Amino acid sequence: MTVEVQVTPEQIQAVADTVQVHKFGGSSLADAYCYRRVARIVTEYAGASDLVVVSAAGDTTNRILAIIDAQADDLGIAEVLLRQLQKYQQGLITELLNGDLQEQLLAQSSHDFARWWGWLRGDEVITHRPELLSYGELWSARLLAALLQQQGIQAAAIDARDFLIADDAPEPHIRVPVSRAGLLNRIAPHPGTRFIVTGFICSDPTGRSLILGRNGSDYSATLIGSLVDAKQVTIWKDVAGVYSADPRKVERVVSLPLLDWHEAEELARLGSPVLHPRTFQPVNRERMVIAVRSSLKVENQQTRIGQYDDTEPKGKVLTSLADVVLFRINLSDAQLVQQFEELELVPLISWNEIAQHHAYYAYHQNHLEYLERWLEQVDKTDQVVQMQGYSMIALVGNRIQETTQYSTFKTELSAQNLRRLAFSPDNNAVIAILEQKLDNRLLNRLHSQLFNYRRSLGVLVVGRGNIGSAWLALYRRLQERINEQMDVRILGILNSTRMWLDYHGLELDDWEASFDTFARPYELSQLIPELPNAGCDELVMLDLTDSAEVAQLYPSFFANGVHIISANKRAGASRESQYHEIRTIQREYEREWYYNTTVGAGLPLNYTINDLINSGDTIRSISGIFSGTMSWLFENFNEEVKFSDLVREAKQRGLTEPDPRADLTGQDIIRKLLILAREIGLTLDWQDIQVESLLPEQLRGISYEEFMQRLPELDEPMQQLYLEAQQQGKVPRLLASFAVQPDDSVEARVGIEFIPAGDMLANLIPGENIFVIYTDWYHEMPLVISGPGAGKEVTAGGVQSDLNQLLSHLSNRHKG
Ligand code: ASP
Ligand code: MG
Repeated sequence: MTVEVQVTPEQIQAVADTVQVHKFGGSSLADAYCYRRVARIVTEYAGASDLVVVSAAGDTTNRILAIIDAQADDLGIAEVLLRQLQKYQQGLITELLNGDLQEQLLAQSSHDFARWWGWLRGDEVITHRPELLSYGELWSARLLAALLQQQGIQAAAIDARDFLIADDAPEPHIRVPVSRAGLLNRIAPHPGTRFIVTGFICSDPTGRSLILGRNGSDYSATLIGSLVDAKQVTIWKDVAGVYSADPRKVERVVSLPLLDWHEAEELARLGSPVLHPRTFQPVNRERMVIAVRSSLKVENQQTRIGQYDDTEPKGKVLTSLADVVLFRINLSDAQLVQQFEELELVPLISWNEIAQHHAYYAYHQNHLEYLERWLEQVDKTDQVVQMQGYSMIALVGNRIQETTQYSTFKTELSAQNLRRLAFSPDNNAVIAILEQKLDNRLLNRLHSQLFNYRRSLGVLVVGRGNIGSAWLALYRRLQERINEQMDVRILGILNSTRMWLDYHGLELDDWEASFDTFARPYELSQLIPELPNAGCDELVMLDLTDSAEVAQLYPSFFANGVHIISANKRAGASRESQYHEIRTIQREYEREWYYNTTVGAGLPLNYTINDLINSGDTIRSISGIFSGTMSWLFENFNEEVKFSDLVREAKQRGLTEPDPRADLTGQDIIRKLLILAREIGLTLDWQDIQVESLLPEQLRGISYEEFMQRLPELDEPMQQLYLEAQQQGKVPRLLASFAVQPDDSVEARVGIEFIPAGDMLANLIPGENIFVIYTDWYHEMPLVISGPGAGKEVTAGGVQSDLNQLLSHLSNRHKG
């Protein structure tokens, strides 16, 4: 059979220069939605003259095989299955097409199915299985071409049997020159048309259908690519390329940007499901590149398989097989040894054990049937001992023997039931056969040891006031140490109106000047859903503001995968309903939330409480002086000074809230009390706390300026208070407390109490906080934590302590 090339050498060259091949498998075409996505990719990512190779839609090939089987056994079942197939195929047509195109394709489809029904009833004879199988690919090529046409794209379907000619064999032998001429004659005269070609099928010289083997469409694609001398074949999959290990078994795998032909071939040979071994056969290795790319997430990394000069020794992929069979033969049977050596199916590895006179051949379980049939044919079944229950783990990469990864691999596996460890013939893999089940934990451990993959944490700093600046200074000092566990990057610094953002990480030298230059207006609610684009493994937001708006967005941060560290008390002390929502979403999205500095600034309060609870203790009550401001005011107060003067001085020293009334009403203390109570698991809300405010009624609804003017109105009542206490030999203090009652209810209050003058609570350093904690274990004497409860250095340090805790949590979570 000959076919003359009818196009000019220039046209052929133009095809080689411009045409690329794209391949879509059945799962990419499973339903109408998938078809539309493929059509979009073909429009946007394929050139105007590219070839698109398709498999049968969804599981059509399996359905056809089931119908063929049923036709021999049970006609009733076969009819049901055929009706379902017809409904599925015609459903796709009616869903995707309209008007004339729909009518036309439905007519063709009805004609096809009329033949099928004829075949099923025995009227029309299609005895040839491959012909039935071919329909799957024919239907998908036709439908995709029509869908593109409907969208105004020039496209046409080609049945590969019209040009791809082969001689029948278990793996058909392609007649390259005729096939090449046939294809070029068909496409070269039509630049600007996207041709949709059936994968999987070809034809013998007499026109009988042949198939290229299960999952043969990848092979069709590289074959067709090589016929037109294409530079690139893109295999679109539902995964983003080739990974460092099977993502179904191993966590934290990475997609590999480049693979060498040898590495890809070795991977395929070792049974990795990425590409069929035959895919590589027809490839002109100097010219072609195979790209493996995600059709679900086109923006993701792709893997390019080609001829790369990078011959650096490096292990790239950890691959494994759960079921491996060993065949043991006697070395003295020279004929059988010879037969094994010549067998087309190459074993995973083979070796001799001279002392026992044995040779071993390891194969994947999938090939067992083929091997048993072969042994019967050569009449050697009795000479072979089959051994089950083995697994394989291999590390694939160029010149593996020279890598340090090899010794890691060897050391780790020697501790297992290792049956054999050896290199592949070309030194592109080290292969271990284990006499045990495949263990995913072992795979995970090996993977992280071999690739020493450093995970990254992106940090968003919200608030660049006192604490923000102090923390950034601290971070810069500790940067090296912080980066030991993870690759930590500051992604952005935000104040209330502007942000300076860079997903590659901010350069923090002279950051204040850079902020002034680069910061832009922003909308926090819009920024949050964008953050995952930073490409970090983990994200954390440091809320160093006192902003209710930021606190309100916590659920949105969590839902977008962001952990939170708060110095801001507002979320932790929000109304119970909002607090509940924040906690629910945090739990649902498995995010971390640390807020150690919201109570007692840097004092290790939350840490101590949690440690006690986790160790089996129960907290009964916490009381004390929770506010540095109030501590300062009262420790300096006596009958000789005016309270209003103290308030004014505290304000000047920056010790109060911007409006001191937030301190005098006890608001700030209530917040801390709520946070502590919730920390130990109590359900408490604002109205549950008895509050005795120091602020007289008449000073409440007025402006800040007026309040500051009328401050002396505080003096009279405060003076009274002081004298009243003095008469009892005591001093007044603003205390906060909550206690779990015997009936499990909670009593919580914030108010003035008279304390004996010699008591610890009456003798603090001005500004000092004190927390008195009673528990089951600390019930005769309380556990007391005291120290400065405010200040930018200690608070920044507390934020850093939270960050350290997050880092160790994240790195532990991904070990082993
Ligand atoms: N449709 C064929 C099969 O299922 C070919 C392919 O999908 O690659 O085997
Ligand atoms: Mg603290």
